[in-house]
Amino acid sequence: MRLPADYHMHTPLCRHAAGEPVEYAKHAVAIGLDEIGFSDHSPMRRDNFDNWRMNQGQLDEYVEKVRKAQKDFPQLTIRLALEVDYLSAHEDWIRELAARHPWDYFIGSVHYVSDSWAIDDPQKLSEWKHRDSFEVWSIYFERLTKAAESRLFEIIGHADLPKKFGHRPTRDCTPLYKKFLDAVKKSGCAIELNTAGLRKDCREIYPSREVLQLAFQKGVPITFGSDAHAPGEVGMNFAEAVQLARSVGFKESRHFTQRKHRPVKF
Ligand SMILES: [Zn+2]
Ligand SMILES: [Zn+2]
Repeated sequence: MRLPADYHMHTPLCRHAAGEPVEYAKHAVAIGLDEIGFSDHSPMRRDNFDNWRMNQGQLDEYVEKVRKAQKDFPQLTIRLALEVDYLSAHEDWIRELAARHPWDYFIGSVHYVSDSWAIDDPQKLSEWKHRDSFEVWSIYFERLTKAAESRLFEIIGHADLPKKFGHRPTRDCTPLYKKFLDAVKKSGCAIELNTAGLRKDCREIYPSREVLQLAFQKGVPITFGSDAHAPGEVGMNFAEAVQLARSVGFKESRHFTQRKHRPVKF
């Protein structure tokens, strides 16, 4: 079986990941991947926005670390990318970031459902106690739909992140999923199968089979990502992710070069 590219991994510059890009690349080669992409958490315009991303001044260092991995592992295709937080007020900033380096792709992710609450932050877990879970899922998907409509991204990251700690919606979210996927289809981007969910309380790939089935029906393309925050997590559970994708009907994933895509069979 040919494994699809792992397009989601981090570096220590984000302050909550371990291992240098060369170590991630080494592990990728060891498990038989032939393409990976670094997509560390992008800097914000304001460096003190939060404490889990690189500062603006570290962007060049990030690119250099990825370039070093490319040089040291010529047998592996290594893409240069970012995981960018989507906040509607930050669209100009995201365009500025896009112009700074020759990126292969941007993953657009929603972590913030308000200016101060990132739903996947374990330190903000108590916020869930004050909120109705369906309301949080609704806000999250409204923001995710806007991220897709913005056309700033090639890939939308971990599309049902609110389930991370096991908070499930109290009402049917199918209409929210459909609206989001229609926006993805219209804007021409892809969604990722992110295996990190298997390592979290939800014990499930992001997004769920239901979302993936709807995506397949609507002709939305996919990518794969481990969301590795350590070298040993590269390509983790990819066989399971490929099996899930195949069972829904997918036969190919999207690969990117310089923000242009092509389909690759898996
Ligand atoms: Zn992270
Ligand atoms: Zn993320």
